[in-house]
Parts: sequence; C-alpha cells; structure tokens
Amino acid sequence: MLTSTDGTRQVQNLIGGEWLPARSGRTLTRENPADISQLVATCPASGPPDVDLAMAAARDAATRWAATPADERVAVLDRALDLLEARSDEIVTADVRESGKTRADCQGEVSRAIAATRYQLKIAPGLLHQTRVLDSGLDAVLDRAPVGVAALVTPWNYPFSAVLRKSIPTLVAGNAAVVKPSELTPVTGQLIGAALLDAGLPAGVFNLVFGTGGEAGQALVDHPGLGAISFTGSARVGLAIPERVGARDVKVQVEMGGKNPLVVLADADLAGAVDAAVHASYTAAGQWCIATSRIIVEESGYEEFRDRFVARTRQIRVGDGSDPEVDMGPVSSRAQYDKVLSYLDPGRLSGTVLCGGGTVAGRPDLADGYYIAPTVIDRPDPDSAIVQEEIFGPVVALLGAADLDHAIALANGTRYGLCAAIFTSSTGRAQRFARAVDVGRVGVNVPTSVGDMTVPGGGRKSSGRGEYEGAGDGITFFTHLKPVYFAR
Ligand code: NAD
Repeated sequence: MLTSTDGTRQVQNLIGGEWLPARSGRTLTRENPADISQLVATCPASGPPDVDLAMAAARDAATRWAATPADERVAVLDRALDLLEARSDEIVTADVRESGKTRADCQGEVSRAIAATRYQLKIAPGLLHQTRVLDSGLDAVLDRAPVGVAALVTPWNYPFSAVLRKSIPTLVAGNAAVVKPSELTPVTGQLIGAALLDAGLPAGVFNLVFGTGGEAGQALVDHPGLGAISFTGSARVGLAIPERVGARDVKVQVEMGGKNPLVVLADADLAGAVDAAVHASYTAAGQWCIATSRIIVEESGYEEFRDRFVARTRQIRVGDGSDPEVDMGPVSSRAQYDKVLSYLDPGRLSGTVLCGGGTVAGRPDLADGYYIAPTVIDRPDPDSAIVQEEIFGPVVALLGAADLDHAIALANGTRYGLCAAIFTSSTGRAQRFARAVDVGRVGVNVPTSVGDMTVPGGGRKSSGRGEYEGAGDGITFFTHLKPVYFAR
C-alpha cells in the first residue's frame, strides 16, 4: 500500500495475490471524520468486472486450499495473526483515523479480534472433523467440507474486527474468500490482506474488492459463483439478501442492527446501572450494534436514575479519538451525521431533550469534524422514530415502566432483537426478563454490550438471519456437513 507524503494511504484491491486498481481506474476518497480536511485514504471504486476477476481468482485457489491439510491451514493463519499482532500499533492508528473511534476503543477492537480468531483456530480442527462411536453399532465420521467461495461484506464501525472475525473461520474451513470491506474504512482491510499474504497464504485464497455497496457489494452478493455470503450491516440491506439469494444453493449469514434496551428496576444497584448505560450508549459514539439506545426504568427509581445518567453524560469529553483525554469521537461520515441530526430535528422529535440534542455547543475546535453531543431524550412516545429506529449515534431514549411486565413489553416493542440487559437485585425477576425478552443474548447486571468469544449468540427479528451464531462453538465456518456411517 502506498502512502503519500501527507499520510494518505492508496489502498488497492487484492486479487489473485496482486494489488490492483479498479478496472475502470475510478477511486473513492475517505476523509478523517475527526477532521475532514485530512484525507485518510483513496480506494478503488470497484464494479462488476473487478468482482468477476476476484471471484475467478478465488475459485481457482479454492480447490487447492480445500485439499491443504487442516493443520497447515491453521499454521498459515496463525502466522498471519502473529503478524497482525506485531503490527497492531499501525492497525490501531489506521482504525482511529478511518473510523473516528478513540484509540482505547480501537486497541480493544484489535486485541479482542486477534484473541477471538486465535481461539477459532484452536477449536476449528475438532469441529471440522469428528468421529463418533454410535449406540447403534455403527461408527460415524462427520466431516465438514468447504462450500467453495464465500463473499464477506462488512461495515465500518469495527472494521478490523468485522473483516478478521469473518475471514479466519471461513478460510480455516478450506474456503476461499472475496471480502468487500466498507468503503469508509478500507485501510484496516488492506492491512489484514497484507498480513495474510506475508504469512504465506496462497494467492487467490483471500481477495479484497473495495467499492460502494450499490456497485461492488451488490455485484458480489448477486454473483452466481458463490457458496456462501456473510453480511454485517444495516437491516435495510441485510434483510433483502436472503431474497436476492433466492433458489441459489448459497449459505447465508446476515447480522444486522439493534435497538437494544437496558432495563433498570427500582431494586437495582443504580451506580452499576449508570456505569453500564454510559459505557454501552456512548462507546464508538453509539455506533455499535450492541449499543444501549433505549433505557427503560421502573417508575419508582426513574428520577434518580435519570438525574445520575444525565450528569454522567454531561461529563463525556468529546473530541478527536487520537487524543487520549477524549472519551467519545465523531460519528463516521457526513451521511451518518446528517441522519443522526435529522432524528433530533425539533419538528420530528418526540420527548424532551435533557442534554445534547445536536452538535457540540461552544466548541468551535470541533467544527471540522462530524461531532454530535451525547444526547438524552426524556420520555419520548414509545411509537416514535427515536424509540423505534436504529439511529446509530450517541442518542439515548429514556422511558418509564410501571413494572417488570411493562418493561418487557417496551423492550420487545421494536422490530429489532439483538441484545438486552437488566439491572435488578432479584434473581427471579432477572430470569423472568431473560426468558421473555425476544433477543439473541441477555445481560444481567452487565451492559448490553457484554459477550464472550467462547459463547455463541445471534440476533432475532430484524437483527439476524440464517447461520448466525458467530462465536464459540457456534462459529460459522461455511461448510457442508455430510456424515458417513461405517459398519463396525
Ligand atoms: P450498511 O448496510 O450500509 O453497509 C454494510 C456493508 O454492506 C458495507 O460494506 C456496504 O458497502 C455494503 N452494502 C451496502 N449496500 C449494499 C448492497 N445493496 N448490496 C451489497 N452490499 C451492500 O451498514 P453500515 O452503515 O456500514 O453499518 C452499520 C450497520 O451495521 C448498523 O445497522 C449496525 O447495527 C450494523 N452492525 C451489526 C453488527 C452485528 O453483529 N449484528 C455488527 C456491526 C454493525
């Protein structure tokens, strides 16, 4: 990857082991969301001819890679993780500049993604090949065979993690991959590609095609040569993918957004609940799928929780994520900035703005970035857009609930079902909530964002579809399982 004297990276596609521009020669530019006068990168504006080229390279490489013994596949991918670990400072710096997140957040993203994929490599051989001695007197061999070429389409909010955590299980299973990272965050994807090549991954096994969703993404998802698609992004795009796949024999995994509720009952440890709410609401400026965006508080504790939460929200230091004193960076792009502000338009907004409500007041130093003040909205109408739609910004809706049943009804009252959490000192009430809430994972006295790389989990309703258990022993490898029974 070339770097200009002003620090701009010139990212290219990785196809068949070569770094290439788009066939059309067109490029896209990416500005630093913390200071839009800085250009972070240019990347190819790829279209169908580039996707065709990448698919052909991947199909060529897939057969030989599938025939490579699993322990050799593990070894080369492990070497790539060693290189990524050694290069993590460079990756973190690139992540901060292209995503706008804080350095601490990006450091956590990179180290957790490397740890999670090391774990995936450790357990993969045992999951891909199993033998069982059956009570029936037969033996069974359960081999998981790769599906061929997988398309991996990823978002910008955790760009390193999204590409790595999809790629490693796909590749260790013996598939080839064509990855379409978000056009907003090309550099982290390119650094992963470089590490895989440097580690000795054969040419064509891992390919990168940069470009917009409408051009490169669409051409990839619609390509007839695919065996699998893994998509993470908005429900707007994701929900249409299974339909677009139609009758094709393609495995589909679709991970989408959330409108995650944190329920705080009157018997809760309020300080713990406030900490959890602040962390999950404002990390990544609220731009993570597991963010808390609705807080539902039992009426008898409502005012106290509200006052403490608003006081803590006011203390959040907003600024350029590369400054270690900053707690929250900008939102990622002009489109995201305009979208979040549109929800805060007084003509559209339901409820009362308790703090924030737009750009950061009194901070002319933030005028060149996409900064939005952490915002709390008091008692909006539960049916209003601010409560129902995924805003993906530092905006939290506070709602009152008469009791646990009311809180459960409110928690379940959106189209999303990614994750939820409850704060209460009653085990019984926590268990009742955990059973009744229609989401992929539940936290008790922990933030909505808590998860673990060894535990599977997925989304419900408009938050997830298909083979979606991407962690722990539910890793999505994209394989065909064909058990073979042997007479003893
Ligand atoms: P997005 O849907 O706009 O884009 C995601 C990816 O899809 C990008 O690479 C984009 O270029 C591509 N794309 C866009 N249109 C396409 C099309 N028509 N065909 C094929 N590909 C297309 O989402 P985003 O704005 O990049 O990311 C934010 C969203 O991602 C939020 O909704 C967030 O909740 C979600 N997300 C979910 C998870 C999860 O695990 N559930 C994790 C992170 C982010």
